[in-house]
Amino acid sequence: MDNINAFDMRLRRKYIVVVVFSSAFALFVIWKLYQIQTDMKDLYCAKVLIQNKELLHLSHYQLTLLEHMYKENINRSLPIIYAITPTYYRLVQKAELTRLSQVLRLVENFHWIIVEDSDTKTDLVTGLLNESHLLYTHLAAKTPPFEKLKDKDPRWKKHRGVEQRNTGLKWLRENLELNKDRGIVYFLDDDNTYSVKLFEEMRKIKKVGVWPVGLVGGFNAEAPEIDPKTGKVIGYKTGWRSDRPFAIDMAGFGINLDLILSKHDAQFSYKMAKGFQESEFLSYFITKDELEPLADNCTKVYVWHTRTETPSVKGYIPGLEV
Ligand code: UDP
Ligand code: MN
Repeated sequence: MDNINAFDMRLRRKYIVVVVFSSAFALFVIWKLYQIQTDMKDLYCAKVLIQNKELLHLSHYQLTLLEHMYKENINRSLPIIYAITPTYYRLVQKAELTRLSQVLRLVENFHWIIVEDSDTKTDLVTGLLNESHLLYTHLAAKTPPFEKLKDKDPRWKKHRGVEQRNTGLKWLRENLELNKDRGIVYFLDDDNTYSVKLFEEMRKIKKVGVWPVGLVGGFNAEAPEIDPKTGKVIGYKTGWRSDRPFAIDMAGFGINLDLILSKHDAQFSYKMAKGFQESEFLSYFITKDELEPLADNCTKVYVWHTRTETPSVKGYIPGLEV
């Protein structure tokens, strides 16, 4: 009798285990199917929106964003990095932009705002962007002739990129909405060298993030000076005018989009003293002790202020776009 009872109990236990496992499995399958169904709905929805873009009067920006979401290049739960790049025609332009655009493909949730220093958008940049697979906005804004650097002028003589960076800022303010769009704004010159690690650092920014920049201002690098006790920026290690309110190169900071969208008058100007563009621009938003040191407490270099030598060209091969 006891034997039969024990047998019965074992059978019952096995039965319970089988029922519990199969119910869990069934629930898992149902949950998976539900997920697939919602994903399909999202994809279908995006496709319908894209197919009916004219009818819906979607702006070019909304449409490109949608297309990139559809291709899963854009993840809505991560802030977008909006990088503003001034660029101008010279022999090395295509080489610089090729190098840059292919690095930028490695960056998640990235929106390139490229502003040409010319009256109209050129075929060279248009073609390069079309092939880039990046989410981008292509604009043109010419530097006024009297502000333009002449061939023989030393580089410090004129401000560079003012018109183009302001045009990029204007685009952000006209196309994005405070408290709705989330992102980081970065001024990304076309000749510098960027590690993908830099962009990962930028996503941590709450207001303004800062980091060292390699090969700049006559030094091997410039870096904010950090108080080891408080972790705050207390000064700047630079080769030139470390007494500036913000002695930081254009490549050495990123700003939260919220600040850009809430301070409409903040922009660059030809009136600013030479070498003070960054300092004056940052003064619109923040004080030194609010800066957020990134790149391992400003101990790592993830961006270099490089410059490609102007090649000396003795002849031209006709019909080749270089
Ligand atoms: N730039 C421009 N027009 C010019 C000179 C420069 O649009 O006439 C752009 C350039 O392509 C770069 C940024 O402005 O993205 C900064 O220029 P540059 O690298 O010459 O300045 P530097 O590094 O010496 O500050
Ligand atoms: Mn440069």
